[in-house]
Amino acid sequence: MIDINFSKFFNNNIDLNFQTENDHLSFHDVAIPQQTHSANVKFVTEPGLYDDVDGLITSKKYKLKLMTRVADCVPIYLHDFKNDYYGLIHSGWRGTKNHIILNALDIFKNKGFSNFKNIKVFIGPHIKDCCYEVDWDVAQYFSFFKKNKKEKKWLLNLEKEIIYDCVTKGVSYKNIKVADICTFETMGYESFRRDGKKSKRMLGIIG
Ligand SMILES: [Zn+2]
Repeated sequence: MIDINFSKFFNNNIDLNFQTENDHLSFHDVAIPQQTHSANVKFVTEPGLYDDVDGLITSKKYKLKLMTRVADCVPIYLHDFKNDYYGLIHSGWRGTKNHIILNALDIFKNKGFSNFKNIKVFIGPHIKDCCYEVDWDVAQYFSFFKKNKKEKKWLLNLEKEIIYDCVTKGVSYKNIKVADICTFETMGYESFRRDGKKSKRMLGIIG
């Protein structure tokens, strides 16, 4: 059972959790995306379920928690420390390939008039390039991977792809942090790659 609070990365201005999915959570103030590995991001002001989106953004004044469900995919937490907009994104290889993070940053700019220099990004626990083997049909879309010669496989680095997108857009490198946890090889974390259909999900929560 994992339950980690990463709020210190956002100077404790906003709560940022990563935990094993469990039945005891209360969902009355939570906005939940019905994830489809899309690059769709939505600005929300009310709790509830949101169809066909993989990222949600809100503002602190709506007193909402945002959630994402992952097991190896990357949870990306965002916070603009000037206007108190925040967001949570689910970015697997498809979402990363289709730059869902850029769609999220566009919403910060369009809805909150964010300056990207004021946005902090926390890349949560996910499967890292020590373990994330893919074939060329997936690797071909990316810039950051290592070749595993023996196996004729590629080891994909999703966090570098996401950091590259953020920095290119204008987020300061010093405002980006990455959790030092690979879900595949860390005891207690849920990993779809490792456990297949037996795996549960982890919940990212912000707000
Ligand atoms: Zn690993």
